[in-house]
Amino acid sequence: MTAVVPAGSTGPTARTGTGEQIALAERYGAANYAPLPVVLSSGEGARVTDVDGNHYLDALAGYSALNFGHRHPVLTEVAHRQLDALTLTARAFHNDRLPAFQRDLAALTGTEAVLPMNTGAEAVESAIKVARAWGYRVRGVPDGRARVVVAGGNFHGRTTTVVSFSDDPSARDGFGPFTPGFDRVPYGDAAALAAALTADTVAVLIEPVQGEAGVVVPPAGYLAEVRRITAERGVLLVCDEIQSGLGRTGATLRSDTEGVRADLYTLGKALGGGILPLSAVVGRADVLGVLRPGEHGSAFGGNPLAAAVGSAVCGLLATGEYQAAARQLGEHLGERLRALPGLTAVRGAGLWFGCDVDPALGTGRDVCVELARRGVLAKETHGATVRLSPPLVITRDELDVLVDTFAGVLADLARG
Ligand SMILES: *Cc1c(COP(=O)(O)O)cnc(C)c1O
Repeated sequence: MTAVVPAGSTGPTARTGTGEQIALAERYGAANYAPLPVVLSSGEGARVTDVDGNHYLDALAGYSALNFGHRHPVLTEVAHRQLDALTLTARAFHNDRLPAFQRDLAALTGTEAVLPMNTGAEAVESAIKVARAWGYRVRGVPDGRARVVVAGGNFHGRTTTVVSFSDDPSARDGFGPFTPGFDRVPYGDAAALAAALTADTVAVLIEPVQGEAGVVVPPAGYLAEVRRITAERGVLLVCDEIQSGLGRTGATLRSDTEGVRADLYTLGKALGGGILPLSAVVGRADVLGVLRPGEHGSAFGGNPLAAAVGSAVCGLLATGEYQAAARQLGEHLGERLRALPGLTAVRGAGLWFGCDVDPALGTGRDVCVELARRGVLAKETHGATVRLSPPLVITRDELDVLVDTFAGVLADLARG
């Protein structure tokens, strides 16, 4: 039988150049992004290629969804095999991939139980629901009164409840009314956090490092102090490790680096191996155990294709080599970035950096546009910051190319 490809689905339009592709995107796409004028069509490791045949180093790695690079051979092999066996069952039935994934992720993270979902925002929503139900059913908080303490500058996703407790106007404005029950305190200030806890507080939700805010690393000892306070007050600690976890900062969980065990963690991004969306809430069995059948779920959550890829991701991380690479390469990248003129601040953890561009030279966007022209893909955040989170499989030579290119852009902007 000859496979017939319907016109327009994967036909000639997918093969045209940058200009046509961007025109098509602008004609039919919702304009909720302002992408750089680069149209990618293939990738391998830390390198991607556009429709005109230009090559780039990927210094963003899908905001850490591509920690293992593009098309890691172990992950694509597992995905291909699972595509030929079973892809989706819905949770109405068991499938033969999900239990092993849950076992593997619990073992990797040193936790007891795993609730699979799809996107990061869904994992955060799920953690909030679990924390509230735990508050009512276990802690005895009066119904409808549960509160969750969050940090200023947070980023936990884009759903309505999650943007309810953001302080970023571009995430919130025009999207109310918002979900009540959240109290926001300054990030990095444990005393302010302690003062915000009430008898109705069921959880503190925090990023161990704030990625979207510009790779903001809290003061040493902050997370441990938050853990001490929450434990003392009988409040759950929920660490959102969707971006900081799974190797990026040089550890499986950033919290572990701080000597902290949370009650719940949210994971996502790299968990899907850069192939598909896969997220999870992991943590204490007695806390996740408050959910009863029928109270929470997802048509795609825990599907065998995602679970197979997720298990393979756990296998890669179990070797420790990606965490070690993040530490070693991160040390090198940090040293080189801190020596660059034109940056007013460099913050980092593992292979993850926020670089503030001197406003006299231009904006973060200006730098990213020029980097892309020279073959390095990065993304600005909050105006002045260039965020670098290359795949953990990048080589030291590729990192040097990245920094040399960055240095060249800054030097040329300084010359005006
Ligand atoms: C990206 C991110 C999310 C949201 O994940 P999505 O998959 O985009 O919904 C939540 N929390 C943190 C810390 C993130 O970096």
